[in-house]
Amino acid sequence: MNKSTLKKRLKEWDDKQWKEELEAKSSIMVYRSAKTAIKEDPIYDNTASSIILFQARSNTLPLETRKRHTGEETTCLLCGDGEEDQHHFLLECTKLAEERLKMTSLQRPHQEDQLEVLKTFLFNESTEEMEKNKEGLYKLWRLSKRKLVTVTDGEQRTGADRS
Ligand SMILES: [Zn+2]
Repeated sequence: MNKSTLKKRLKEWDDKQWKEELEAKSSIMVYRSAKTAIKEDPIYDNTASSIILFQARSNTLPLETRKRHTGEETTCLLCGDGEEDQHHFLLECTKLAEERLKMTSLQRPHQEDQLEVLKTFLFNESTEEMEKNKEGLYKLWRLSKRKLVTVTDGEQRTGADRS
């Protein structure tokens, strides 16, 4: 293995470690905060957007990453680039970039600030900001589901053409 390959491997390993650590930290943090917040928070009003917010806060959005438990493919079906976990959905997926641009609080941050950005987005103390974020999150979620239908339709057509 030459030097540059080694360097590349190390960087990949570093990135992976960093991501895993961040994910572990953020799900614990998010879960804890969600548990204490859920009871009296007026943000939960039984609407679909509240449910999505709750799932995002507790890191339980039904994303592809959940399939890792059964050893299935976890790659994002929208962009095909990287595992679809909550970080990917909220901050990275290029197919959602346009909608994300409308949310000032979700602009793609530097790696070291991502956790803080997500925390502020999901647990903003200002009710007004939180309402905005909740609606923004819901729009992003709906958009990802709509786009997914388009992507899957395309695949099925391709499959039919081949046979
Ligand atoms: Zn994606």
